[in-house]
Amino acid sequence: MFPKRATDQIDVKGTALWRQDNASLLGSIEANGESKLFKRESTRSGKPLAKKWDPDYLSEEATKRKVSLAIIKSSARAASQPGMIIYLKIYSFLDRDAGPDTSYSGMISLGAGAPSSACFPFEEIQVRISNTIDFSEIMKENTTMISMAKFDFEPGVSDYSLDVALNYGQGSGSAQMLRFVTEHTQLIHDPPYSDWACCLTVGSTSAWDSALRIFCEKGDYIILEDYIFSSALETALPLGVKALSIHMDDQGLIPEHLDNVLSSWDEKERKARKPFLLYMVPTGQNPTGATQSLERRKMIYALAQKHSLYIVEDEPYYYIQLPPFGSSDSFSNSKVRNELIPSYLSLDVDGRVLRLDSLSKVLAPGSRMGWVTASEQVIEKFVRLNESSSQHPSGFSQVIVFKLLNHHWGHSGFFGWLEKVQAEYTSRRDTFVQACLEHLPADITSWIPSEAGMFQWIEIQWRSHPLYKSEADHQTVEQAIFASVVEHKVFLTPGSCFWSNADVGEERMFFRATYASASREELKEAVRRFGRALKAQFA
Ligand code: PLP
Repeated sequence: MFPKRATDQIDVKGTALWRQDNASLLGSIEANGESKLFKRESTRSGKPLAKKWDPDYLSEEATKRKVSLAIIKSSARAASQPGMIIYLKIYSFLDRDAGPDTSYSGMISLGAGAPSSACFPFEEIQVRISNTIDFSEIMKENTTMISMAKFDFEPGVSDYSLDVALNYGQGSGSAQMLRFVTEHTQLIHDPPYSDWACCLTVGSTSAWDSALRIFCEKGDYIILEDYIFSSALETALPLGVKALSIHMDDQGLIPEHLDNVLSSWDEKERKARKPFLLYMVPTGQNPTGATQSLERRKMIYALAQKHSLYIVEDEPYYYIQLPPFGSSDSFSNSKVRNELIPSYLSLDVDGRVLRLDSLSKVLAPGSRMGWVTASEQVIEKFVRLNESSSQHPSGFSQVIVFKLLNHHWGHSGFFGWLEKVQAEYTSRRDTFVQACLEHLPADITSWIPSEAGMFQWIEIQWRSHPLYKSEADHQTVEQAIFASVVEHKVFLTPGSCFWSNADVGEERMFFRATYASASREELKEAVRRFGRALKAQFA
């Protein structure tokens, strides 16, 4: 089990019972799925509604978008009854003996432009699943085969068949996956307002691009941390938005600096309206590895209320929260952190948080699957945008991931897998940090062992470098160190690659190491080489 808070066990059983009575699925193409059909009544009642974001917060593009393929998808929606997933069934019996089911009394649509599933060449997919994270030969045998066939829909037994998965679907993603992620979100975050919803995405890179298009106009500033996942910046800048960088410490964004900058914002001087979109990676930040404590999150949320900000929490590393390096936990058998720091979503009484979740770091990036959670008003904008862009994640991905998460693991099994991922990365982090202690020159390097995610941020005392003559030499010194590092056949990324703004970083110098992907032996050797490169540089 994977408790949210030490005292508060997750109620997986209650969710299963609720699902059985209220949220069963009918197998159908383009089934209408909305989170509100899957949320447990008991966790919704008595909560306030989300704040409505007026047109100033939503871009012209977002407000102009109307339901795409209106007849097709809204006809599926029109057929829906409360508490059930209803269907637009497109019968395709080219190769089936039985012929159409004449007893079928639901709507038969001839309106959709979907192909016949009978013409798909994919009859069955089989996937072998690991039951453990282990590279030993014995453990390689510890696997289970799961399979999915074209017409194997059976309510409650096989809720998702290939004929449905591989056809067109709704912009919110399949009802099947949406039900799972809605339940998961309720179990882990239990947002404190009632009208929240989820929408599937093709990962957080795309979700962030959508968020920018939903909230920003050209010329707007967005609020970022000093150091930022570079792709997030690369997504934003070409859209004509500008970066407002806020200082960080070892817990990420510093609230006082945010407050000062926003309190003294001068629209005329800045030639831009006061920024309202705040993007953060609160857990295991990329690149710094910083994790915000609950107190820090509460302070920032209070500032968001004060300055009327809208928060985007991009959390691909949320489940990779690690016990402190050197704590007894990290050397015990379990190597997991049994208490997750509450998310912004779980503190969000106003509906001012958009949470980006991704399966990339806990299942596989190639699945290109994730989901967003926010108020229904904001999620509706995502669905509209999806309808005329990606539509939804690939049906192959959805059906394989669904069979794994829903049928093979269930919610508890998924939490169990997340614990295994935590344990594996704890062990790699420990190996890496131990190697740093052994091989890096203590007089010119320092680091705070990462407690989440995949990155270790290492500070270099660059003013001790022989090429340092003045503060203007930051780039020269960084480049010299980087060249030496590469020469020693190891790769770490220079910190300047992550500046959210050219003014950020001349003061201090950092390199980012990823301890996630190399083997333990490679990690030790890589740190040894890095240490030799630094010693060569600093003589
Ligand atoms: N957001 C952050 C902070 C990341 O570090 C990464 C990947 O490195 C992503 C998003 C990409 O996520 P996805 O694979 O879901 O697009």
